[in-house]
Amino acid sequence: MKMGLRIPVWQMRDRIAGVYAEFDLGLLADVTDFPFRFHLPQHYLSSVLLDELSRQPNVELRFGVTLEAVRTNGEAAHLTFSCSDGPFETVVPWVIGADGARSNVRKAGGFTYDGFTWPEKFIVVNVADPLEELGYTGTAYVSDPDAWAVVLKLYDDARDNLWRVAMPADPDVADDTLLDPAEVQARLRAVLGADREFSLAYSGTYRVHQRVADTFVKGRVLLAGDAAHINNPIGGFGLNGGIHDAFNLAHKLADVWLNETGQDVLERYSRQRRTVAKEIVQQNSIRNKKLMEERDPDVRRRNQSDLHEISLDRERSRAFLQESSMISSIRRAEQIL
Ligand SMILES: Cc1cc2nc3c(=O)[nH]c(=O)nc-3n(C[C@H](O)[C@H](O)[C@H](O)COP(=O)(O)OP(=O)(O)OC[C@H]3O[C@@H](n4cnc5c(N)ncnc54)[C@H](O)[C@@H]3O)c2cc1C
Repeated sequence: MKMGLRIPVWQMRDRIAGVYAEFDLGLLADVTDFPFRFHLPQHYLSSVLLDELSRQPNVELRFGVTLEAVRTNGEAAHLTFSCSDGPFETVVPWVIGADGARSNVRKAGGFTYDGFTWPEKFIVVNVADPLEELGYTGTAYVSDPDAWAVVLKLYDDARDNLWRVAMPADPDVADDTLLDPAEVQARLRAVLGADREFSLAYSGTYRVHQRVADTFVKGRVLLAGDAAHINNPIGGFGLNGGIHDAFNLAHKLADVWLNETGQDVLERYSRQRRTVAKEIVQQNSIRNKKLMEERDPDVRRRNQSDLHEISLDRERSRAFLQESSMISSIRRAEQIL
């Protein structure tokens, strides 16, 4: 896989008025080795992770296995699975529910998952056109009360151009209508401001939720990733937050396993990651969405002018970028005892 696609500029646009703020991610070169956005589609990431896990001698990978039930007795977790060979059981000292937003582990463990679902659908379209020619950088957010959009250049090793455009859609319109190619083309023309036919590579719809579990640990059951928290995709916090959970939890659980610390440290994992999920990720992802779809023209102008001012000031831009890249959320978590 050829890597190293660099996307240094992060752009905010108004659909009608044009670009109002640009942020150079290179400003973060002194705080991260990766001062750029790299949009690696999930199938590539999964294959990188699979290769890495396959090389680990103490990892057993099993496909086609469904976790059906979890019981805990304070000392261990009893797991019941089904697969084509029939059901089987296993007893483990801890179970980490990293089984997505509909997590069976979370439900079986009696966790709550409070929050809300946005009323609108999101429509996501991949196009194989060079959107740089229309003035888009590889990370662009387009604000508009009705036709806002997230425009991202994706990594693809088969072609030079693959861009993802995520937009809102009416929940009362059937998917067949929303995803009709002529309908998709019209939506793209309106959102991207270009009178042309796009080369459609993929289109789909999905619903978006904002939810966080009441705790990320209960006895022998831990939660991580979407099983623990879920948010709208504006800002790209979802998967990244799950990765932050993983490296926070892995070290703590290893210390417990090696008897280097007590189980209390797992409560700290929950405090750290849950606080960040609630106070930073939920708030920022909701704020991002509201910024993009704001209807009041005065508030829109004020928001745009504020961001424009920030983009002109090096230190304020750095603070903004550390927030949007979640670097500050990792620092915030470290401060929580
Ligand atoms: C359209 C869309 C766009 C997104 N864009 C971004 C983005 O740009 N940036 C970003 O950071 N995030 C993004 N996200 C969010 C991101 O996809 C998720 O946050 C991420 O995939 C969560 O990873 P996870 O491993 O926690 O859960 P999942 O990816 O849902 O993985 C859970 C796994 O558990 C398995 N599983 C579930 N139940 C069981 C069971 N009972 N037994 C056995 N296995 C089970 C599933 O098969 C799956 O393999 C986007 C999400 C969507 C829907």
